[in-house]
Amino acid sequence: MIIILLGAPGSGKGTIAELIQKKHQIPIISSGEILRAEMNKRTEIGKKVSRFLLSGELVPDEIINSLIENKIKQLRYEQSVIIDGYPRNQNQAIALNKVWKSELIVFYLDLPKKTLVDRLLHRGRVDDTEKIIERRFEVYLNETQPLIDYYTRTDVLIKINEISSMEIFKKIETVL
Ligand code: AMP
Repeated sequence: MIIILLGAPGSGKGTIAELIQKKHQIPIISSGEILRAEMNKRTEIGKKVSRFLLSGELVPDEIINSLIENKIKQLRYEQSVIIDGYPRNQNQAIALNKVWKSELIVFYLDLPKKTLVDRLLHRGRVDDTEKIIERRFEVYLNETQPLIDYYTRTDVLIKINEISSMEIFKKIETVL
């Protein structure tokens, strides 16, 4: 099974992924972490993607799709994986369907925007400035939000309305 965490910036996807990982020993693929690692190691990919991360834009689909495909191939003997931050648009969702054929479940973390912005401003990552946060929200609305409909249509989406990560995790547990 593939467990996808879908939600706006600051919704706690990374924290939830770690809670699920600890409880069930399921590996996490985090697209943001993968990209930040490439950036910090100053690899060729890192150099190509840094301007997207530092402006809040999505990195080009070809780059992220192939990074994620490689990770999934490395984890092909696992029964389940958690994915945090991918897919972020419909192209990526289609690419993912091609590399992972088994069951898919999408948890959509729906939190009020004010809570999200407050959290991000207190987190202090390099892309957590007011200007970049605003752009990341726009990109989320335009590119990622349509995936909610996409996954609702295929009947794999579960919406979670809690705010605290612990409450979100409890709801997820009742499903898993
Ligand atoms: P995150 O850690 O998920 O908040 O992602 C941080 C940044 O990495 C985003 O603002 C994008 O620039 C980039 N990024 C992460 N995941 C993706 C993705 N699936 N597609 C394109 N860009 C991504």
